[in-house]
Amino acid sequence: MVSSKGSTWGRAMTDAAIAVTQSAVEQFTEQYLASIGCSIEKQGGRWAVTVPEGTETELATGQYILRCGDEQSTENEDEEPLHPESSFFQTILEDSSGRCPVGNISIDAGSTDIAIPNWLRTSDVEVSEVDFSPYYDRTALVFLFTLDIETVSDYQTELLRSVAVDVRSEVVLPGLADTLLEKTSLERGTTESDAPRIETSRAEKLIDHVRPTVVEEVRPTINDIHQEASRAADAEVEEYRQMQQQRMEELEETVASLSSRIDELNREINQESGREEHVEVLKKRKGLKSELDEVEAEIEDLRNRREQGFPDKQREIRDRHSIEVVVTPRSMTEVDYESGEAEFELADGSWRESLTVGYGSGVGVTEDVYCENCNQRLSEQNPLRSLSGGLRCSECRGADN
Ligand SMILES: [Zn+2]
Repeated sequence: MVSSKGSTWGRAMTDAAIAVTQSAVEQFTEQYLASIGCSIEKQGGRWAVTVPEGTETELATGQYILRCGDEQSTENEDEEPLHPESSFFQTILEDSSGRCPVGNISIDAGSTDIAIPNWLRTSDVEVSEVDFSPYYDRTALVFLFTLDIETVSDYQTELLRSVAVDVRSEVVLPGLADTLLEKTSLERGTTESDAPRIETSRAEKLIDHVRPTVVEEVRPTINDIHQEASRAADAEVEEYRQMQQQRMEELEETVASLSSRIDELNREINQESGREEHVEVLKKRKGLKSELDEVEAEIEDLRNRREQGFPDKQREIRDRHSIEVVVTPRSMTEVDYESGEAEFELADGSWRESLTVGYGSGVGVTEDVYCENCNQRLSEQNPLRSLSGGLRCSECRGADN
């Protein structure tokens, strides 16, 4: 199998997506290195990593200086860059295969600011006060996955995605995965020492449960690669068709030339000649006729296959360009969080509203809020626009305003 690592990390990625990916790389690297017993000393974007003697790893024993993301390089040539495509990161991904480091962290109301939902953050309506009342302690698992999108023949794209899921309700919590990535320095002192409380079989079930979510998240990339692969396959099929067309023309020319030589021999046979010569010509004609039969059989076969669109060849080409998406869990973090209700005090000119919604620490608002006039869901694309006569979305404003 040809494995060419494409420079697909940068494929149409926004700055935000790159930042998230870099955070995921750093999070995984830290979690993994800690789990195998390495020590990490951070100085901003430079990490001094010590791999102690006897560590079960392919990494050489000793010290590494990792330079994170776009941190400026120094003259120190011993520094290893750390980003999605760096060889150090690729090495630890390989090194970690089959092991899934586990960590845990708790995010309570005191450790994070209350997150304002998108549809409110981009709104002109002011938030004059927020208050979170936690009611329950909940547990979520945040998995970091790598997704390998590959075809047998060419591309190999590797993406990192993190997904959070509530252990009890199995609800996916996108806000929590983001919060965890944003926390650049997790209180990971406990990472390797605390065994996970969740049973392996339960964790595995949750991994299966969120797998489709991870794939859906990278659907646009999968579609791009799929299109590229289809185009490549189409081009190959077309090239094959043209080659066969050329072959057909060659065969038809051969038929014409064989036929005319046979005709010539027929004329010679009819002419008076010696017995020996006669036998010689008959033999020659027999040879040419069987050659002609062979060529005609090949034409017939080619014509049939062309008629059906060369199905075997097409299948072979399409198979070679078909896409496989492999989702591999790389690390797991148990997150204790609090769920309850948040109260937002809203102000819009002289209008006032108090809005109470489900909320989780680190998770954000957990329930959808709808326009009280047209019933559309409020979202980043359709933010809250005013409080005149209740919550009003951007799309229906002006209808009777
Ligand atoms: Zn509306």
